[in-house]
Amino acid sequence: MGFWLTFEKVQCWVIVFLTPTVFLVEMAVVRPDIVARYSMGSFKHALHIVLSTFSFVNVAGNMIMVIFTDTSVKRGNTQGIYCEVCKLKRPPDAWHCKTCDICIERRDHHCFFLHRCIGRQNHRYYILYLFHMAVSMLYSGYYNYLYLSAMFDNYGFLLAICRMLNPMVRMFVKHDCLGLQDTYTIFFLANVGLFVWSAALCHYHLRNVIRGLTWHESMKKKFFYKGSRLADEYWKENLISVFGTRWYWAIIWPFAKSPLQGNFKSSLKIA
Ligand SMILES: [Zn+2]
Ligand SMILES: [Zn+2]
Repeated sequence: MGFWLTFEKVQCWVIVFLTPTVFLVEMAVVRPDIVARYSMGSFKHALHIVLSTFSFVNVAGNMIMVIFTDTSVKRGNTQGIYCEVCKLKRPPDAWHCKTCDICIERRDHHCFFLHRCIGRQNHRYYILYLFHMAVSMLYSGYYNYLYLSAMFDNYGFLLAICRMLNPMVRMFVKHDCLGLQDTYTIFFLANVGLFVWSAALCHYHLRNVIRGLTWHESMKKKFFYKGSRLADEYWKENLISVFGTRWYWAIIWPFAKSPLQGNFKSSLKIA
């Protein structure tokens, strides 16, 4: 337990450090090259700077909010299950997390990458972090692809892909050290991987939310619930219980206040 706890903590801070680093590399290395190569006008260039910064602020802001929002169960519940560790009564949808060592309000799951539990209070930031991550990876991925194919002397698409996958092969073949091209190639592969990962997770968690299920419940009900209904009849209430009453601000500004209202409701019946 001790080793994993330290590993998770270090990993979390590496992710926090890498987020602005990647943004700065994109702005300092890729951006000037693309602007010069495609003779981008000043309006389009300025628009790209605004959109990139918007994406970065939303990714970084939501990530920071996931980490620093207090998700624990507050004292004062008179009903519920008594937690021997926290010495308080917790609501039925709250769970005690062994890693965080505290009871979490409407606990969804423990996020291994950000070393925090996802519960009622930070559920919004978590899903929006994944959403903005997927959008920014798609956005930057397109320009990274242009940047990389130019680096590969404008090879054809397939050949470029083969050369992009080159480092994967090199991992198993003895060679002295990775060159600059390989470093950018790994960077691009991570870019594609992160897009797939964040888009898939965002889709999965958002589907749980509109069905009014926490991750725990969705795992339990998976085996009993027949059919793949997309949304529950309470989908609007469920979205507001995660994104708050001012959800339209929450989507575009991670630090916007958006009071949470209600709790998960689900009309799904276990078959
Ligand atoms: Zn507890
Ligand atoms: Zn936890």
